[in-house]
Amino acid sequence: MIIVKVGGSAGIDYDAVCADLAARWKAGDRFILVHGGSGETNRVAEALGHPPRFVTSPSGYTSRFTDRETLEIFEMVYCGKMNKGIVERLQRLGVNAVGLSGLDGRIFEGRHKDSVRVVENGKTKVLRGDHTGTVERVNTDLLTLLLHAGYLPVLTPPAASYEGVAINVDGDRAAAALAVALRADALLLLSNVPGLLRAYPDESSLIGHIPAPDVEQYLEFAQDRMKKKVLGAAEAVQGGVRRVVFGDARAGEPITAALAGAGTVVS
Ligand code: ADP
Repeated sequence: MIIVKVGGSAGIDYDAVCADLAARWKAGDRFILVHGGSGETNRVAEALGHPPRFVTSPSGYTSRFTDRETLEIFEMVYCGKMNKGIVERLQRLGVNAVGLSGLDGRIFEGRHKDSVRVVENGKTKVLRGDHTGTVERVNTDLLTLLLHAGYLPVLTPPAASYEGVAINVDGDRAAAALAVALRADALLLLSNVPGLLRAYPDESSLIGHIPAPDVEQYLEFAQDRMKKKVLGAAEAVQGGVRRVVFGDARAGEPITAALAGAGTVVS
């Protein structure tokens, strides 16, 4: 079992990801696809007059502040346009994909964090009304049911809180929790960069290999959202996943390339 997470940044080639996935699925490999949608969500939120608000925690992590209206726009794009766009591509390629959010069947479940500590203009503040959280449990029964019946699950945030409220969760860390829960052979985190860069944005500074026990030391090279990927990789390897790859989803055969050792391999 391989968990593939494809991001939502500009430049990602979803046709290439789906073509590669379909070919390998037909050859007998088993996958679950998790996807993002941040770029498109930002565009739609602007168009609807509710622009995104990104906040930075005191420890330097950037996240989307998700009030109720933002959550609804987030769902329109992630569960609607992005999820159905990917499912349609896979269906056209002859793969019986099923698109679900983490809310459906409580596939992703976690604690709702209503308030967030943020740093703005050098001052720490507490913002309330946030619909975010972290995945703590995965409904592997439902996923196993689908996989055994021959369906390819295509998953997206939000998750369900323990109270049944939709919460925005980080897709990379959700994919890591999924990989741990299903004891996956590998977790591929595909985005619009060649991998983890030592001197971002210089693509020639690609870090080829990270020894699994050292992965947290590499947080220092990751800025803003890349930090979540490194954190997700650390959670996956600490949870027993033997290989995590930060790979490039901009062209070619992104899954085959990542499995062949392209990108940054954490092992
Ligand atoms: P996605 O939505 O595709 O999963 P993110 O935007 O969350 O991706 O994270 C990937 C982004 O992280 C890259 O597009 C890049 O701008 C940024 N980034 C920050 N630091 C690094 C780094 N050291 N190496 C590679 N990318 C980095």
